[in-house]
This record gives sequence, C-alpha cells and structure tokens, in this order.
Amino acid sequence: MAKKYVYQFSEGNGSMRELLGGKGANLAEMTNLGMPVPQGFTVTTEACTQYYNDGRAIRAEIQAEILEHLTKLEEITGKQFGQPANPLLVSVRSGARASMPGMMDTILNLGLNDTVVEGLAAFTSNPRFAYDSYRRFIQMFSDVVMELSKKRFEEIIDAKKAEKGVKLDTELDTDDLKDLVVRFKKFYRDEKGEDFPQDPHVQLMEAVKAVFRSWDNPRANVYRRMNEIPYDWGTAVNVQSMVFGNSGDSSGTGVAFTRNPATGEKALFGEYLINAQGEDVVAGVRTPSPISKLHEEMPAVYDQFAAIANKLEQHYKDMQDMEFTIENGKLYMLQTRNGKRTAAAALKVAVDLVDEGMISEKEAVLRVEPKQLDSLLHPQFDAEALKKAAVIGKGLAASPGAACGQVVFTAEDAKQWHDAGKKVVLVRLETSPEDIEGMQVAQGILTVRGGMTSHAAVVARGMGTCCVSGCGEIVVDYADKKFTLSGRDYHEGDWISIDGSTGSIYGEAIPTVPADVASGDFGRFMGWADQYRQLQVYTNADTPRDAAQGRAFGAQGIGLCRTEHMFFEGERIKAMREMIVADNTTDRKKALDKILPYQQGDFEGIYEAMEGCPVVIRFLDPPLHEFLPTKEEDIREIAAELGITVEKLHNVIDGLHEFNPMMGHRGCRLSVSYPEIAEMQTTAVINAAICAQKKHPEWKMVPEIMIPLVGEVKELKFVKDMVAATADRLIAASGLEMRYEVGTMIEIPRAALTADEIAREAEFFSFGTNDLTQMTFGFSRDDAGKFLGYYYDNKIYESDPFAHLDQKGVGKLVDMAVKLGKTTRPDIHLGICGEHGGDPTSVEFFHKTGLHYVSCSPYRVPIARLAAAQAAIKFPR
Ligand code: PEP
Ligand code: MG
Repeated sequence: MAKKYVYQFSEGNGSMRELLGGKGANLAEMTNLGMPVPQGFTVTTEACTQYYNDGRAIRAEIQAEILEHLTKLEEITGKQFGQPANPLLVSVRSGARASMPGMMDTILNLGLNDTVVEGLAAFTSNPRFAYDSYRRFIQMFSDVVMELSKKRFEEIIDAKKAEKGVKLDTELDTDDLKDLVVRFKKFYRDEKGEDFPQDPHVQLMEAVKAVFRSWDNPRANVYRRMNEIPYDWGTAVNVQSMVFGNSGDSSGTGVAFTRNPATGEKALFGEYLINAQGEDVVAGVRTPSPISKLHEEMPAVYDQFAAIANKLEQHYKDMQDMEFTIENGKLYMLQTRNGKRTAAAALKVAVDLVDEGMISEKEAVLRVEPKQLDSLLHPQFDAEALKKAAVIGKGLAASPGAACGQVVFTAEDAKQWHDAGKKVVLVRLETSPEDIEGMQVAQGILTVRGGMTSHAAVVARGMGTCCVSGCGEIVVDYADKKFTLSGRDYHEGDWISIDGSTGSIYGEAIPTVPADVASGDFGRFMGWADQYRQLQVYTNADTPRDAAQGRAFGAQGIGLCRTEHMFFEGERIKAMREMIVADNTTDRKKALDKILPYQQGDFEGIYEAMEGCPVVIRFLDPPLHEFLPTKEEDIREIAAELGITVEKLHNVIDGLHEFNPMMGHRGCRLSVSYPEIAEMQTTAVINAAICAQKKHPEWKMVPEIMIPLVGEVKELKFVKDMVAATADRLIAASGLEMRYEVGTMIEIPRAALTADEIAREAEFFSFGTNDLTQMTFGFSRDDAGKFLGYYYDNKIYESDPFAHLDQKGVGKLVDMAVKLGKTTRPDIHLGICGEHGGDPTSVEFFHKTGLHYVSCSPYRVPIARLAAAQAAIKFPR
C-alpha cells in the first residue's frame, strides 16, 4: 500500500506525535474526546522530509492526497473551498514533534479571493469583517509565502489612516478596507510582476510549502540547536477550518494554561481578546484581559472552557496550554499541548500532581527538564540592596529571576555587547522570534507590550531568562536609543535591574545573591531523582569555595581538581615562574619547595570542604608558556622581579614557544621532562590527605591522583612510579594505613584505543571529553567557534560537539575504552570530567555506557543528578 501522507483529525490520535507533530496529534486526540475542534487534516512530518528530499517540492501524489482530504473536509463542514456561497476558509499552521513556539509560519483565512470575499460578506452579513479578513490574508500570505515585507503593508495601512484622519484600524470602515485590498493587490503586482493568486488551491499548496520551508528558517534553526531538536524530524502542517474570533463582540480568542506557568499554582491562568484573531494574542500587540474576566463577560463559555481544560489536564496528566476561539458565542478548541513553564512551576506542578494522585514519583522525575533547574540555582537580588532601590515601573512578572545589566535596544546589540563581555538587559516594544539570539544572551528582557503569553514571555520562560513584559508606561525611542520611564530617560548603556518574579523595574544596578535550593519542592523532588539514578555525580572544583558549592548542590565527590588554577594567584605565580626559568634541577626544586605549602594548604581546604568524599586531583596540565608574560612591559617587570635579565626571560619564552601548544609540551609530558613537579604535587596531595585523616579519623581518606594527557602506557608507568615512590615514603613515615590510587584521564584518542594496556597501570579512568573531542575532530576547542557557525548553517553539524558529546565518533572511543579497560581490570573505576558531564543528553549516553560517575561544574550538579535519574528510568542497566 502506498504510504499515507495526510490524515484527517478524526483518523489520528495522541500517540502519533512523530508523524503528525504535537499539534496534529493533540487535535486528533481532542477530536476523539468529542471536544469542539474545528475539523481539518494534518500533512505529516514525513511529507516534510519528502519535500526536502525532492529538492523542496511537493510531489504530485502528496498534492493529490492533500486535495482528497480537502474534499473530505468540505463534506465534514458542509462548506466549500473557493466557493462564495458558503465558503470554507482554512488556517495553515506548522506543528513539529516538539513544540517550537513562534519559530515557524502560520497563514490564516486562506481560501479568500475577490469573489469568495463577497460570498463571505453576504453569508455572515458582515462585509466589514469579510474585507478585514481578506486584507489580513493578503498581508500574511504575501509576507509568509511570498516573502514580501510586512512593513510595506503596514505603511499602506498607515497612509490610509492618515488620509482618513483616524488612529485605529477599527476606525476603518468597509469601504476603507476594500480600498486597502485594492492597494495591497496593486503593491503585490508591482513587486511580484503577477497578480495575487486568486485560485485557493494554488494558495493552499503554496502555503503548505511555505510552512515546510519555515522548518529551515534561521530562527527555527537557532531554536532547534538550543533545544537539541534534530533537523531531520521535519514539521507537520495542519490545515484547519477557520473559526472567527474577529467576527464581532461576541467573538474572541485566547490562550490559557490549566495552572500558572510562572508559579505552578493550580488555577486556570490565561488571557483573551474580544474581537480578535489568535495571532493578536501571541504577538503581544494588544494587551489582553485575564481569563477570569471571561467568567463575567461570557459565563457559559467560561464554564464550558474550564470543564474542557480540566478534562484535558486529567487526560494528559499534565499542565495544558490551550488556544481557543469563540465565534459568535460558540467555543472552539484550536490547540492543546503540555505547557511550557518555569523551573519553579515545573517543580511545583510535578510535586502537586504526585500529591493529587495523578502521577507517580517516577513519572514526576521525568516531568522536569534538567536544564531548566539552572534558573533556580542562579542569583536573586540582594535583599538589603533591594530595600534601598526605588521601583521606577512595573510590568508583568513574565519569567522569574533577577537580572541586572546595561540597556540595549536590539537583539544584534545584545549579542555584540555580550560578546564584548558585557551584561545586558534587552529592552523592546515587543519581541518577535527573530530576536531569539539576543534574548538568549541577555540577562533579562523588558518589553513594553504583550501579556504573559506573548512571544517574549513564552520564550524567556523556556530559556530560564528573567523577563518583565507589558510595561505600557515605557516610551521607547529606538532612533535615539533611549527609553523614558517615570520622567527619566535611560540611554543605551545605562544600568537597570528587573525582577521577573514581581515585574518590578529599577533604574540602577542591584547586586545579586545566590539562590536557596535546599528548601521545599526542590529538595523533595531531587530526593526522588536521587533514588533512581545509577550514576554518581561529582563536581569539578579547584577551590574550597567551589567544592563547598558543589557539595551544597549535592555533589558526591570531586571528579576533577585542576591544580594549575592554583598557581596563578599572588606569590604563587612568582614561584611558578622561578621554577620555569630555572635552568637546573636544584633551582627548579628550590622554586617548587616554595609552591609546596600553598598547594598542600589548598588540598587541605578542599578535603575539609568535601568531608571525606572522594577527591580526584589532577597534576599540572597546561603548557608552561601560559604562566609567562607576553607583553614587553610585563616581560621587563617580571624579569626584574625574578632577578634575571630581560634577555634571559625572552630566551625562556622563545624556547617555550610551540606551534600547537595544545598538542605540545603539556600534561604528563611535563612530569616526564621535570619529574620534580610530579614529586612536589604528590607530596602536597599525600601530606594533605594524611593531615585530613589525622584530624578526622572517622573519614577513610583514599587520595586519588590523576595523570593527564596520557597516550601510552609506558609514560603513565613512568610518572606513576615516581608518584608511588614519594607517596609510599610519606605514608610510611606518617604511621597511618592509607591507600591511594593513581589513574589517568582518557583524553587522547590513542589512550582510548590502547585502554586495555593503559588499564594495567591506571586504577581509574576519567574521560576528558574536552580534549578527546578536540583531538578526535582535530580542531581546537579554543578556535572552533570561529567556523562552527558555518557548519551549523550548512547542516554539517547540528550542535556544538564541545557542548553535546559527539556520540558517533567521540562516544565510540569512550565506549571502546570502557570495554578495553574492563578486560584488563574488571573493577576499574570509570568517570567523565569534561564539560559534557553536565549536559543532559551526554549524561544519558554516559549512563548507557556504564560509567560510574559524571563530574561537572558546581552549578550543573543538580542538572546532572536529574539527567542521570531520567536516564536510569528510561534505560535501566
Ligand atoms: C578535558 O580535556 O576534558 C578535561 C577535563 O581537561 P581540561 O579541560 O582541563 O583540558
Ligand atoms: Mg584535558
């Protein structure tokens, strides 16, 4: 049987997301539940893939199938497409598997032409409405399908209003709108060299194509990359018969959630506009009324809607985000989906649904996106400073958190300023999907227009970025790059602060303090997560402070303590430089003796902070030139400080110069050249551990020493023998019984390929996926950013391999090394400490590979804990 590419809503169901997209599957499900859904059909995601495979064309048999379903839709609705008598108009909307709010295209009122509009006018006895719909359609179709500038149409409308001496669109009468239609069509003909398409079938096919095309638009690509949505999924297209929220004062349209998406509070939450079409609410151009008002305005409709909302939530067992339209007093459901929510709301909803008996604890653990927890871990305003700060305005508390930054007015400026190391608050009249990149880098977003479900609010919540929307008192002047609020001007670069939890705006910088994560829903929820996970979660920490922060977030150990970071401060860097410029072992040892007490003190502090939990300390890794100056004036100053000639320091620097320092004299190669460095570090680690053990006899200290950048078992053995000689001597002298371990990082492909040999010497492996990625791809982690953009644009890579593990290539090496390592040493302890240790999809991979722990920066520890729990639930091992 030929493949089926089109489904009537009545033919699908909620489990068909992959094929019908989220919107299509849910429309089908609501249809099956007997809810008032304007009928229609879904062109599948496979048709989208086929469209791209066919060189961006819809093949004939799929077109025929679409038309067959259109005929069925005519039968179902009793209306006719392209016929004036009782015309069928449709909306054409995107709908991917994962919701991508506002990223792709939508066309409403499709099916109108010069004769159908007359029919619609007669049929509804409302010519003004008919012509308003027609002019909207021409505008939308021209913009979305034909890529004519939206702005030019707005200018034509503005010119008309000026001629009439009126301000609002609603002040234009039927004749004005008819005239606008004439002007629009003329503009279209002038621009395109042909008439606006009058054949509704042509309109339909072009619109479907445009939606498919929008899957590949720049903002959708950025959104997908941010949310790890694969490009090859494609989008479905939903063709749905139109109902009209703009057909008078007993009509309207709105968006509502079954619970508050900012706080999670259980109460219907949303907003609507009377006499408007759906896009008006989402675009945030008019500020809508709260849904509670509908209770007063149309009590029967409200009750029906509330009942449906409740039924949908019970059915999906999750908070729903619904779009509805009221046409002449009759309610229609246009969409439902699991609602996007803040992290705080996600936790509250998950915990409440368990308490309400709707879902199990295990299901609850799967309900919160790990990445989202991030926003709960970040700073809030300092309470004392906040008391002194004056509120200069208030908007809607659209996405919680505190933000403080310098004002910028465009997404491009936000990006540029951010790249220059500045913190910005993006101030806009309203945001649109094109602003996504600027929104992503801003500390916070402040908009003049738009409600809680406007684009800015929805997207900011999804990103966990603080947002205050709909502050109507702000007067923005884009031309002069300033805004006015409470009688004061704020220019580009001025500092402001906004509170996305209260909606308050402050005309000054307010310091922030770390968030409290131990209390309430967070603690309870993470407790459930911890019951399920099989991976342990460690943290990467180089200081007692980071270690304590990691512990506070639930880290069970330190998986990577980078010792070099300790060498940069104050007196230490001087001793380090003395060591580097030393031209004999005696001088080098003298310098190292100065470093030893610092280093040992640091380790003691870290052991204290970790309260006896495992701590993996890595030996010196970077090339030595990183510790030396580069500027001439610094070279002079430092030479004087070190008591050597400028010439000598120059010679040392020149001698250390390497063409590829990241592939040069670093890692264990330093210990091979200068064994005294490894000896000093071993002394510091072992002495600190002895000290901790004596102070806390109840702890069982097992110091772990990690040798970086090993590619050959013999080099590991060489360093390990030195470590052992020193460690054994110190432990024997201490009178303690103390075990220690020496392991290695697996971060060079050759180490992975020969992991069976390496495991002869290594008591543990920790995958250094930063270097392993760099060396496997053969591009530098510091420079790849310069060209990776082209790789995304050309769909060569879908995401940054330094952020999300390349499972196919680098992952294969990890998997291979795990297996090889175990053949030699079945109980070898296995972890990962590259940046991927805090990335949820990578954590899932490491779980499947059978590692024992992941290690990540302190702020990502809760994210890794939850990701590990979800992986364990989805893929038990
Ligand atoms: C790594 O390479 O993954 C690693 C953790 O080490 P570093 O980032 O310090 O090179
Ligand atoms: Mg490394």
